[in-house]
Amino acid sequence: MVKAGLWIRQDPSLVKRYYESASIPVNLPWKLSRKHIRIVTRDGRFIKLNTLRNRINSKALWRLCAKYAPTHVCMSVLDYLSPEKVGLSSEARHAYPVGGEYVVDVDNSLFRGIDSHEHPRTLVCYECLEIVKKYTIRICELIEENYSNIIIVFSGVRGFHIHVLDFQAGDWASFDGHNLFKSHKAARFRYTLHLSRMLDTLLDKSRFTLSVDPMKAIAVPYSLNASTMLVCRPVGSRIDLERKSVTKILDEANPALLIWPVKAISEQHVEFQ
Ligand SMILES: [Zn+2]
Repeated sequence: MVKAGLWIRQDPSLVKRYYESASIPVNLPWKLSRKHIRIVTRDGRFIKLNTLRNRINSKALWRLCAKYAPTHVCMSVLDYLSPEKVGLSSEARHAYPVGGEYVVDVDNSLFRGIDSHEHPRTLVCYECLEIVKKYTIRICELIEENYSNIIIVFSGVRGFHIHVLDFQAGDWASFDGHNLFKSHKAARFRYTLHLSRMLDTLLDKSRFTLSVDPMKAIAVPYSLNASTMLVCRPVGSRIDLERKSVTKILDEANPALLIWPVKAISEQHVEFQ
């Protein structure tokens, strides 16, 4: 089991090394240039990226992350024509939201109190992840009644983010040409309510709010969560999630080989002499 959070937490040089060594994700289904992107630094500062007219791509984002060694790297769920104008929600319509995925953030707060077990003193709990995995599969099955382009990403801590990429605001709300932001908000509210009603248990308030709020930000896939030192790594479809054990998911999210490169045996031999 991964002892995340105990051994290498928040060492900025290791975070830098991750972004320098990890291969830059290409062919991502997310349009980073359309996203409002912000990073959270180790001292709790937020730095907004995509603030200039020359938009960011994954290569530029990885370069900036290697520079700032952020704790979290987040992107908006909505795609914008002018992501540099994203600020307050009252102003968001001026950034022209043109689309964007619907995201359900599934973690152990969904079922807190239902299943009792002793949590380890680490941020990552294996048993919680087993239960969250089952919930994620159940929610995905419900979403698949309406949508098919779904990617599940391990959050790097307590659960999974379900990204519904073929979600369209027009599926659930009438189109308001003067305020697209309002249409996105109404559509997300209706769809979340629809999902909540079909679940055995209602989505708790914070999960409900996250799925409804078009201003919410979510971890950028393949970025590193520096609190746990685990990668927010895409798992794949619901079937991929069903097939992968929690151990395998945690192993794949562990960047140890990238930040602690194994030296060639001959080099180690020289060091020991
Ligand atoms: Zn637990």
